[in-house]
Amino acid sequence: MRLPKFEYRTPRTIAEAVKIIGDVGPEAQFVAGGTDLYPNMKRRQQMPKTVISVMRLPEPHQVSGDGKQGLVIGASVTLTEICENEIIRRDYPVIASAARTISTPILRNMGTIGGNLLLDTRCNYYDQNYEWRKAINFCLKKDGDVCWVAPGSSKCWAVQSSDLVPVMVAIGAKFRLVSTLGERLIDAAGFYNDDGIDYLQKRPDELLVDIHLPPTNGWRASYQKLRRRGAFDFPVLGVAAYVKYEDGAAVDNQLITDARIVLGGIAPAPVQVSVAAQTLIGKSLSDDQIEAAAEAAYVKARPLDNTDFVYQWRKQMARQYTIRALRELK
Ligand SMILES: Cc1cc2nc3c(=O)[nH]c(=O)nc-3n(C[C@H](O)[C@H](O)[C@H](O)COP(=O)(O)OP(=O)(O)OC[C@H]3O[C@@H](n4cnc5c(N)ncnc54)[C@H](O)[C@@H]3O)c2cc1C
Ligand code: SF4
Repeated sequence: MRLPKFEYRTPRTIAEAVKIIGDVGPEAQFVAGGTDLYPNMKRRQQMPKTVISVMRLPEPHQVSGDGKQGLVIGASVTLTEICENEIIRRDYPVIASAARTISTPILRNMGTIGGNLLLDTRCNYYDQNYEWRKAINFCLKKDGDVCWVAPGSSKCWAVQSSDLVPVMVAIGAKFRLVSTLGERLIDAAGFYNDDGIDYLQKRPDELLVDIHLPPTNGWRASYQKLRRRGAFDFPVLGVAAYVKYEDGAAVDNQLITDARIVLGGIAPAPVQVSVAAQTLIGKSLSDDQIEAAAEAAYVKARPLDNTDFVYQWRKQMARQYTIRALRELK
């Protein structure tokens, strides 16, 4: 498969980058590592006429702060850098370990945290080459008018398949977006739409500059990923768990003051299981509480038949993977 023709721009400042996209309009798109965008272009799923690299902008390559004051990670920091950064490993180990499960070492050398958080949604009927999609008369997400997963549906159910998205939602990260109109900081929790086509609360002209992580005062988080091949597959279920303890440490009978369970890889947006979180708050993390939270995650998980594995089994696994994620936090 070959890339279509496009103009390639390499701005050196954020102001220049957002001006280019503002001037060119919807026919332009940013690229970072290109590990998602370029395959999509080869499959003719996305066809920008102008591609604007963000990799020569200095600011989004930086990591600053620490667990005490909060950490700011530039959007162009590669996944390999995330895995190897000493402060991230020490203060936010859940981010380093989730990043380590993404694709392969070579793709992690190119792929960035920003590109991962803005990943296109995925579906068996969409992640195919042009001829394959043409043979089924395309689908709602691109060039067609039927959803083959839910033919009566007016909505696309393609799946949010990033490993870092559920983690960012669970720990309460914020994203800084910049355009010619100014900048805004948006909660990860409100950033993803439950719609496989219009999946982000981001305008196409907005540049993701950095990711703001809260200080690590008393909370811990974990991530568990289900996939067929451990070497490089996308998640077909991801469970991020977050708990905050009364006195900041996970010791016996310590009470949980806040909790979040977030499921990824099963719907167009990450799914927050608030009932599971409520079962944990005010209690210690006993086996009984973990099982009650896992049951709530199982009830809430409604995967569809559009990725790998039988979807009823993926639903069953929501229970098991929530148990695993919470046990890590004991
Ligand atoms: C074989 C294979 C396996 C993979 N496995 C996994 C996996 O297991 N888990 C997983 O989560 N992902 C996986 N991926 C997807 C991808 O490699 C990663 O998500 C990677 O982090 C994407 O980053 P990137 O920099 O390459 O994104 P790009 O392809 O450069 O960009 C992705 C999207 O983000 C936009 N974008 C990028 N940077 C910015 C910015 N700063 N501002 C605004 N828009 C921006 C682009 O326009 C594009 O829409 C896999 C990919 C492949 C090819
Ligand atoms: S969920 Fe439906 S509309 Fe969306 S990509 Fe899959 S088949 Fe197409």
